[in-house]
Amino acid sequence: MTTREDLITVGRQLAKDKLVSGTSGNLSFRDSGRGIIWVTPTAMSLSDLVPSDIVGIDLDTGRVADGERKPSSETPLHLSIYRQFASVGAVVHTHSPYATAFAIANVEIPAVHYAILDLGDRVPVAPYATYGSEQLADHAIKALQVSQGILLQNHGVVAVGETLDSAVRRVQAIEQLAQWGLWAKVLGHMGVLSEDQLAQVREQMKTYKQP
Ligand SMILES: [Zn+2]
Repeated sequence: MTTREDLITVGRQLAKDKLVSGTSGNLSFRDSGRGIIWVTPTAMSLSDLVPSDIVGIDLDTGRVADGERKPSSETPLHLSIYRQFASVGAVVHTHSPYATAFAIANVEIPAVHYAILDLGDRVPVAPYATYGSEQLADHAIKALQVSQGILLQNHGVVAVGETLDSAVRRVQAIEQLAQWGLWAKVLGHMGVLSEDQLAQVREQMKTYKQP
């Protein structure tokens, strides 16, 4: 079972890997037993958190149910995702640099490598809306219909997973794919795998669990 300590460990790792910087980035997991989500607080660096900083939010009412801190400004986004997708157990949001460059250019990340299949066959861009707004949450929900990881236009990255580990693995993959794609373009050509090539990888993955 995921704990607040796990959230802190992951937050530190994201900061160490430079996928988040300053007070940007937020993450949460679902606590089905209590009907709440645990989310990181606003205006604090993910590298400096202790368990009592994590805020419990009632999934139905959206009100603070546990903790003293003010929850992340992106809490409406997190809540909307959990309400919409029953299978989602964790949500991670970053402004990781390469992926956010794609988001600013309003360019989705195509299938530059088969590692993308952990997410979908592309990382789409959800249209711009002000951070923390319900409209941003609505746009994100639509984009998450086609991929487990998305870009928020002129903003950053969101990835979801059944577990915290899978959501984190996906934000890391998105950043890696963006980095590869961008450098390939600098070198002259961002090659994209065809539908057939992706279908063959999917077949292969049935035999070998991990690509
Ligand atoms: Zn953000």
